[in-house]
Amino acid sequence: MKRLFLGLAANYSREDRLTQLFARGREEDRADLRSFLSRKYRGEAILARNGRSSLALALKAYFSPGDAIIVNGFTCYAVYEAVVAAGLRPVFVDINKVDLNFTADIIKQTLERNETRGNQKLNIRGIIIQNTLGNTVDINAIESIANKYKLLVIEDLAHCAGAKYDDGREVGTVGVATALSFGKEKSIDTIAGGAVILRSKPHNQIEAPKKAPKLSDYLRSRLYPTFGAMARRLMGLHLGGALIRFLVKIHWIEKSADSRLDLKRTLAKFEARRALMQFKENSHRNIKPIREFRLVNSRDKLLKELRSAGCYFDGFWYEKPVSPSRYYQKTHFPEKECPNAVYVSQHIINIPQYYSKKELQKANAIIDKYTIKEGEE
Ligand SMILES: *Cc1c(COP(=O)(O)O)cnc(C)c1O
Repeated sequence: MKRLFLGLAANYSREDRLTQLFARGREEDRADLRSFLSRKYRGEAILARNGRSSLALALKAYFSPGDAIIVNGFTCYAVYEAVVAAGLRPVFVDINKVDLNFTADIIKQTLERNETRGNQKLNIRGIIIQNTLGNTVDINAIESIANKYKLLVIEDLAHCAGAKYDDGREVGTVGVATALSFGKEKSIDTIAGGAVILRSKPHNQIEAPKKAPKLSDYLRSRLYPTFGAMARRLMGLHLGGALIRFLVKIHWIEKSADSRLDLKRTLAKFEARRALMQFKENSHRNIKPIREFRLVNSRDKLLKELRSAGCYFDGFWYEKPVSPSRYYQKTHFPEKECPNAVYVSQHIINIPQYYSKKELQKANAIIDKYTIKEGEE
């Protein structure tokens, strides 16, 4: 049976791996991607090293140090890092269990509670919309709260480039700024990269990153899918685990959450070329979210059972309300205020969308046995 993996660039076909290794970038590629993004998202596009750097640039452009910003209470450490790098204070708000996003009501409660805090009051000035795993938020309700409280909306498209809100608008065309990630397994995936589109006049001047990526980052981006494929092939022989640990140790493979925030460096030319190719290939349809989720009981037992069936689904989003767990403590996450986020992080598992239904049949049959039905929690 074909081994099924979540992560390690399993979404890359053989052809994609070769393109990533050998694609020739030209000087014009970055300019072409910028003008494509400027047109698509109707703003001024700036290319960046990765998603977190893009998000940090967006935040710096519209907020001042000390401002507070509303963040989905179920997210990647990259988002926290960007918020802190911009000098802002994250206000995590709880999610609902259906689409893993905050709701307008929860945001409203958070804002009302803040109003009563006297001199402890936070200066909440914005909202980062994440559209978790490609599930979109109730945009009209959130926009009307944002208007009422004069909050600026920033859209983080790491999970959802190409998706549409219920009212038909495309994600990334609503807020004052749009941050894209082209990182591993994001909706546009060139292993590393990002862009920010400033859609309204920035309040602060920001400098566009100009420097080329470091050679080590450049090579890692080229090689990651190939090394990932090698490790996946060896996994059955128990060598894969050892190889992965070795490659991580020498930094040839980088865990996604360890990409560095870097406001000075930009995309490699070939990454810009690949990103543009992916946007164009997908322009005629919505870009498919890369993962689906289920809530399950006895997750460790399930993952073990999946592994023995050749399905390695261990690297799911997210194992903690702010993931990965090795950075969770740093975020001082308000667990008491976000019970749903805590619950979901303990029960979620992801199913990759880059395999066919037929390939996933065996995995789905196993996962079904553990799935929590509605009203059963
Ligand atoms: C991955 C991710 C980012 C940015 O990631 P980079 O690794 O810096 O490209 C931003 N937001 C969310 C929600 C993410 O999952």
